[in-house]
Amino acid sequence: MGSHSSRQPLHSVTLAELESGLRELGQPAYRAHQVMEWIYQREKRLEVWTGMTNLPLMLRNVLEEQYPIFLPEVVEVSGSRDTTQKFLLRLHDHEFIETILIPASPALYGEESDRRTLCVSSQVGCVYGCKFCASGLDGWKRHLSADEIVTQVLLVEKISGERIHNLVFMGMGEPLANYANFMKAITILNAPWGVGLGARKMTVSTSGLVPRIRELADQPLQIRLAISLHGASDTVRNQIMPVNQKYPLAELMDACAYYCERKKQLITFEYILIEGVNEDPSEARLLADRARHLRAKINLIPYKTVEGLPWKRPSEQAQETFLKILHDCGIAATIRREKGHDINAACGQLRRRASSS
Ligand code: SAH
Ligand code: SF4
Repeated sequence: MGSHSSRQPLHSVTLAELESGLRELGQPAYRAHQVMEWIYQREKRLEVWTGMTNLPLMLRNVLEEQYPIFLPEVVEVSGSRDTTQKFLLRLHDHEFIETILIPASPALYGEESDRRTLCVSSQVGCVYGCKFCASGLDGWKRHLSADEIVTQVLLVEKISGERIHNLVFMGMGEPLANYANFMKAITILNAPWGVGLGARKMTVSTSGLVPRIRELADQPLQIRLAISLHGASDTVRNQIMPVNQKYPLAELMDACAYYCERKKQLITFEYILIEGVNEDPSEARLLADRARHLRAKINLIPYKTVEGLPWKRPSEQAQETFLKILHDCGIAATIRREKGHDINAACGQLRRRASSS
């Protein structure tokens, strides 16, 4: 029973956990609903226990002790409303993360268009060390707790005054490596008593953690899956993504097929185009084969330069050639020409700048 007596951030708690915590205090379960309404309902969104006026004062004090409310501090907002806006957040231990608000534009992952998407972080740093990625450069720091994931959404909705319709787990970190906290966060984000976002409006991106993809396939939430492929052969992938040595493409593709089959969903392949690395026409044809096999959609992303790394994007012409090969093979593919390139858009770069100054 000890778990209920230890302190737990309120935004990390599920309704069922709060109900059982209240029961232990001899309180009726409906109090848990009242608390969730105060913190998650759009018109309320309280950030302090003191305002929860339909709860007895004594009880508020006890609950505040047991379920403290922690909110990261927003230290910088950059970009503008009609482009990409980046929010730099400082966590309680002074680590930085970023979360990125992408304005209404044709849908990247779901079926619906013209809705705002938030790109959230799942860890501080990343242990997977993909050669092209800024998040891995400073190495691994720690997992985010569930509340540190959930409050990214709450804070951005508050500061921007905009409602967020879609979430992509494509900020800093590898969400599936932080599986328990990630699952808890999406449970809270999805729940009707929580933020109330549809599971189909959430996309998790992974560099290819095969056992976790299978685990995710086996649980009921209809969250979408995007695979950071970036190479269609083991040769190319091994050069840029160390994770491929652990989970080579054949195993990854099997796990993807399993996901599609269990969820009755189609997945997306993310493919960064990097000059001289993965832009060869032969790689495009191999990519088309892999996509056809799973009926996967492909998002091509021109590489965003990272300070301190040698990689570049191919010329626009080379990008178009790559895209055309995919189209000629009958594959649904698009090039994502993001608007945020000029404001340091590659994942992890904003934190690097903040923590090194
Ligand atoms: N760790 C997860 C999710 C975070 S990365 C993953 O790898 O999928 C989100 C996406 O940004 C991934 O597809 C990643 O490969 C891509 N990315 C990383 N660095 C990039 C860069 N410099 N330019 C363009 N995309 C980049
Ligand atoms: Fe980590 Fe994803 Fe960056 Fe690879 S691409 S280092 S898995 S955040």
